[in-house]
Amino acid sequence: MIFEGLSDKLQNTFSKLRSKGKLTEKDVKDAMREVKLALLEADVNFKVVKDFIKKVQERCVGQEVMKSLTPGQHVIKIVNEELTALMGDVQSKIMISSKPPTVIMMVGLQGAGKTTTAGKLGGYFKKQGKKPLLVACDVYRPAAIKQLQVVGEKLDIPVFAMGDKENPVNIAKAGLSHAQKNGNDMVIIDTAGRLHVDEVLMEELKNIKSEVRPHEILLTVDAMTGQDAVNVAESFNDALGIDGVVLTKLDGDTRGGAALSIRAVTKKPIKFIGMGEKLEDLEPFHPDRMASRILG
Ligand code: GDP
Repeated sequence: MIFEGLSDKLQNTFSKLRSKGKLTEKDVKDAMREVKLALLEADVNFKVVKDFIKKVQERCVGQEVMKSLTPGQHVIKIVNEELTALMGDVQSKIMISSKPPTVIMMVGLQGAGKTTTAGKLGGYFKKQGKKPLLVACDVYRPAAIKQLQVVGEKLDIPVFAMGDKENPVNIAKAGLSHAQKNGNDMVIIDTAGRLHVDEVLMEELKNIKSEVRPHEILLTVDAMTGQDAVNVAESFNDALGIDGVVLTKLDGDTRGGAALSIRAVTKKPIKFIGMGEKLEDLEPFHPDRMASRILG
């Protein structure tokens, strides 16, 4: 389970705090040292941890907490609030364009779960009464187009494809006109991924972006890759500019550091989380719920 190790450690620290009547500054400092270690062990970015602990500590040695009758409880409340803030406070939704179709461009490295997530998002919006169109622009990975078509069939969502000989920019543009003609109010473009961030890929994505002008560029990253996921998010954001992140494979045995670091490092919100391989395993990301899950 995600955050299991982190949750256990934090609960242990907090139960010690709760058992005390009044708290001294040393009690708070000791507790913060344990929280810091727990976050680092959960693979949270070092600088993010440092800033987080500083903020929490400042608030915890304040008058309000020290004088409180239940200081331990107060500290937990502050940690909960700061964890929530770290992940962006409130849920970040997809901007729906007032002039349909809303165009979402999916980007990410190979294997992160981009094609699966494109399908999942289509299914998510279809359930909300939208008429999505999936557009197959990954002309490099063998079978990527077929994979999207299979996903589309399962969800009963149309897929626009032009094979793997056409330029992805042309496919994206043609897909958009197809949507306009056919009354699709949501266009989800599946772009190519690579094994690593490279310039050729970024150039292609920039071309699609400037020609198609998507309302949202959503980056899919794999939570299992920990801080690599955070570095990938930073690279894509610097090179292309992203609007949000879909963090996949949170159902796996991940320590969860990416979930807690991405927003603070990139300033871009996590919008959805992938919780499994099935096409319905996609959830909107709620920072407050995730913080409560961590604190148990
Ligand atoms: P792409 O190369 O980025 O398009 O990646 P794919 O969509 O082909 O996904 C790569 C693998 O990750 C596939 O086996 C997916 O089933 C799997 N996958 C995608 N999202 C999730 C998720 O949220 N949880 C789990 N457990 N597996 C996922």
